[in-house]
Amino acid sequence: MTVGPVEIGQRSETVRRANLGAIVRELHAHGALSRSELVARTGLTRSAIRSLVGELVHAGLAAEGPATRLGTPGRPSPVVQLVAGSAVVVALDIAVDSLAAAIVGLGGRTLARVRIERSREHSSVDEIAADLTGLARTVLGRRPAAEPVVGIGVAVVGVVRRSDGVVSMAPNLGWRDIPLGERLARALDLSVPISVANEADLGTLAELRRGAAVGADDLVYISGEVGVGGGVIVGGRPLTGIAGYAGEVGHMPVNPEGAPCRCGSVGCWETEVGEDALLVRAGLMPGGGRAAVDTVLREAAAGSATAQAALDHVGTWLGFGLASLVNLLNPQLIVLGGRFGRMYPFVTRALHAELDRRTLPAARSLVTVIPTSLGVDAPLLGAAELALEPLLADPAQWVRPRDTLPELKSA
Ligand SMILES: [Zn+2]
Repeated sequence: MTVGPVEIGQRSETVRRANLGAIVRELHAHGALSRSELVARTGLTRSAIRSLVGELVHAGLAAEGPATRLGTPGRPSPVVQLVAGSAVVVALDIAVDSLAAAIVGLGGRTLARVRIERSREHSSVDEIAADLTGLARTVLGRRPAAEPVVGIGVAVVGVVRRSDGVVSMAPNLGWRDIPLGERLARALDLSVPISVANEADLGTLAELRRGAAVGADDLVYISGEVGVGGGVIVGGRPLTGIAGYAGEVGHMPVNPEGAPCRCGSVGCWETEVGEDALLVRAGLMPGGGRAAVDTVLREAAAGSATAQAALDHVGTWLGFGLASLVNLLNPQLIVLGGRFGRMYPFVTRALHAELDRRTLPAARSLVTVIPTSLGVDAPLLGAAELALEPLLADPAQWVRPRDTLPELKSA
């Protein structure tokens, strides 16, 4: 087969776009880098880096600073970084006890953020869409300048079909088959793409990009307020399953004699480590929410044997479930987010004892368990990363004059 000039032209354009993407992803992940570091990290030539960085600077996506000498011989290399305000996304989070919105710029800088408490009864999709629209307007109004919005990312405490943003099931909200992406896109009216994903999957993404798990290729993240959510990274890639439903670790069957679960099954992991399991064992009413969990933690810190016994129960069952995940997945890191991050100091002993007891020694010796470093905002920051994905995948589509970027309709 002969290759004509058109094909060659198309190929070189494909290569250019891929190379621009590689540079933007490095800068997004690592912050400011010298041109020499970009050469080392991307494998591109010095002249290719100079030319492609020039395009990004011309488009306003990146800026070059004064040259620095990095202890290497030769000419000093200018420092390149992304311009956070050149393209921003709206991140939204529907958590069990709160709603949040943020404006996050290219490079991962949060430019504005707001979180409000949410009553667990206040959970119709109309109420939540209205509240989130209000929060989005608030943060859009707090932008330092009128930075162009290029996407919306939404984290939701439910099982989400990634392809169209339909929430298949969200027991904490009482939702089934809710077209959340479509509803929010209409309410926000920003004329930009919207992506919706499970909050634990997005917490995982945030920990990987910005938090405790930077550099980890094999990771298990578990979180949750009422139940248990999870995200799994295998070989540097998220485990999604065929439709995005993977990682529902809370519904791993762990106890055949256990209690009924909200999913309809019996003895799921969350019936042993979920919020109510803790509260009831600590002598409190079920359904007490985050405040009641914090009461148990305070009592344990003050020396209450009942509170500590309840936490030991949860810690032991955490270890039991994690042992299965460690034996199955051989992760290097387990990050405890949400309620489990707050509980971490009180469950460490029981959790590690159970992990030691039930995990294959070879896999056990390689895994570290740590609490989240991003706290409650992990899913929100992950939603921002999700919304930035199209730009990171193909920044060439944005490498054009600023005034041709999508027009912002509201706020
Ligand atoms: Zn279940």
